[in-house]
Amino acid sequence: MAVTQRYGQGHRILVSGGAGFVPSHLVDALLARGASVVAVDNFITGSKDNIAHLAGNPAFTLVEADVTEPLPDHPALSERFDAVLHLASPASPTDFAKLPLEILTVGSAGTLRLLERARADSARFLLASTSEAYGDPLVHPQPESYWGNVNPNGVRSVYDEAKRFGEAATMAYHRAFGTDVAIVRIFNTYGPRMRPDDGRAIPTFISQALRGEPITVHGDGAQTRSICYVDDLVRGILLLLDSDETGPVNCGTEHELSMRELAERIVAITGSASQVILVPRTSDDPERRRPDLTLARTRLGYEPTVGPEDGLWRTVAFFAERRG
Ligand code: NAD
Repeated sequence: MAVTQRYGQGHRILVSGGAGFVPSHLVDALLARGASVVAVDNFITGSKDNIAHLAGNPAFTLVEADVTEPLPDHPALSERFDAVLHLASPASPTDFAKLPLEILTVGSAGTLRLLERARADSARFLLASTSEAYGDPLVHPQPESYWGNVNPNGVRSVYDEAKRFGEAATMAYHRAFGTDVAIVRIFNTYGPRMRPDDGRAIPTFISQALRGEPITVHGDGAQTRSICYVDDLVRGILLLLDSDETGPVNCGTEHELSMRELAERIVAITGSASQVILVPRTSDDPERRRPDLTLARTRLGYEPTVGPEDGLWRTVAFFAERRG
């Protein structure tokens, strides 16, 4: 099914977490469509570098604030929004241990506050949920109808359960108030603007390869992830935003790679002399991960276009340039 563009020129859009990796690319795409964008970010994991190129753009406003608190008195926040996109949340496994309460709060209180704003503005609300909602899945690949296999109190639970709460809250607003909502379940996404030290496999492996250090693969490296280049994800999010779908809808790719294979590809692309070494695995780390993309394809006409070779090249180029 073809989705026609609904949000762009003349629309005001709030993006929470707008200075983060994925959200900053989404901000760029919305501005390219002619929308006015207000990014609200407290920089807990985001970076001003990600939005530095937008300085002086009259269609873009940055408000430095925490979305778990009432939104500040700011002229850019006083007018009605047409859409509220909630992407604020630390998302790296290393953050699960470092920022557990911040993650729980932004996924719960932050989601409720932004849902309330969307309700008050009669705006479309979009929640960035995650494949982590499936936990360590017992069904493969994962369709949206699968309810997941999540440890409710393990180290990853702060993230998994906060996102699951966010989905429940989003659907509750939809059912109770008729709020126009959409939920996207994002699978592992990578690309320029990731933090080299954020603890996720791709930036970690690339940074280690560029420094000529051993590539630290967790466990035996047989665990898989399906990796999605950020441009494909942003296209998927915009298709969902423009559609009438409520979701949840999976977004990602079917390029499923083992962590060992990923490490070896990165060594080859960087031409590094780094060796792959195995280190202990973290608890509840999912064994396999691949989205069933049937819904995204049939309801949104979504099709990822960037293969892992191309996407990893572009990402390595970004990290190499940043290192100088
Ligand atoms: P990121 O950390 O780069 O971006 C998140 C942004 O949210 C950061 O700029 C951070 O400073 C901001 N933020 C966090 N808490 C905040 C708060 N209380 N108030 C205001 N701003 C706050 O992470 P990302 O990888 O770009 O992820 C963006 C979103 O996509 C997250 O919601 C994440 O859960 C979701 N997601 C990402 C992936 C992925 O593979 N990158 C996968 C699944 C889901």
